[in-house]
Amino acid sequence: MKALITGCAGFIGSNLTDYLLINDFEVVGIDCFTDYYPRRLKESNLTDALGNQNFTFIEKDLLKINRYPEEVDYVFHLAAQAGVRASWGDNFHIYTKNNIEATQRLLNFYKDIEIQKFVYSSSSSVYGDVNLPMNEESILKPVSPYGVSKLAGEHLSYLYWKNYNVPTVSLRYFSVYGPRQRPDMAINKFSRAIFEGNEINVYGDGKQTRDFTYVDDVVKANISAAESEFTGEIFNIGGGNRINVSELINNLEYITGKKVVVNYIEKQRGDVKNTLADVEKVKNLLKWSPKVEIKDGLTNYIDWLKK
Ligand code: NAD
Repeated sequence: MKALITGCAGFIGSNLTDYLLINDFEVVGIDCFTDYYPRRLKESNLTDALGNQNFTFIEKDLLKINRYPEEVDYVFHLAAQAGVRASWGDNFHIYTKNNIEATQRLLNFYKDIEIQKFVYSSSSSVYGDVNLPMNEESILKPVSPYGVSKLAGEHLSYLYWKNYNVPTVSLRYFSVYGPRQRPDMAINKFSRAIFEGNEINVYGDGKQTRDFTYVDDVVKANISAAESEFTGEIFNIGGGNRINVSELINNLEYITGKKVVVNYIEKQRGDVKNTLADVEKVKNLLKWSPKVEIKDGLTNYIDWLKK
């Protein structure tokens, strides 16, 4: 089988790339190394893939490609401008371009090509501050410009399915962590601060909770979605590991055996208070459920970081 992975040099995209290559897929990856975080980190994410003869890398901006790869069975669309806090103000155009326009261009191209599945990487940010657990039927009221852009991509995926039969599925990931996690994300920032002997700044009172999801579980959810018979559907992908930020730091202190000073600073606009995924739908239809417990996932992550 052959897969296209957009955003293949990023955190989740590179983990998916490696997994598919190990499992004998042919993979075409597209990434333009946006400057949201250092290029060298993304290049190192691709080290194994670039040594694999089943991998073809296209270093290009999705918005500057006229014809995307045609001979593919699956499209995994992960390329995006991530980050809730950076999405305000003048930066929003980066989000509209990479998250909305790029998604529309891809969908519009694949409406004329026969593929088996188009898996769109959506986000729990589409929910906003709704009642827990967040359910695919919940009313969507994103509270960040990033969330709005991801929701637009999800709607585009749905309407290209509805009108043109593009076989789309959207997966709403909840706070993904694990090896190669983006440097702007909490677990990465906190772990590095602990190792470097720096203090940690926590936005808000530390009581905000997140349903943390290990990256291997997210990779497997993508494959379950691709191989399933379902199209036009949306699924929550949550790890079932809901803890608050202070508990997260305690876990990291325990695993590293180091203590850290924590400063509580002003809450950031766009951050939701709590997240928790209802995963009944994905369990029933895709037969996927999260496997990695937070303590094991954090231990793997810290081991990886040490190396
Ligand atoms: P990432 O920033 O590590 O990876 C995204 C990659 O896409 C980057 O390497 C970037 O260079 C590339 N890219 C962006 N715009 C591009 C364009 N126009 N053309 C070509 N390449 C482009 O982010 P990630 O954390 O791996 O996230 C992957 C996907 O998962 C994104 O769609 C994100 O919105 C979604 N998501 C992530 C999380 C999470 O917790 N990490 C949670 C919910 C949803």
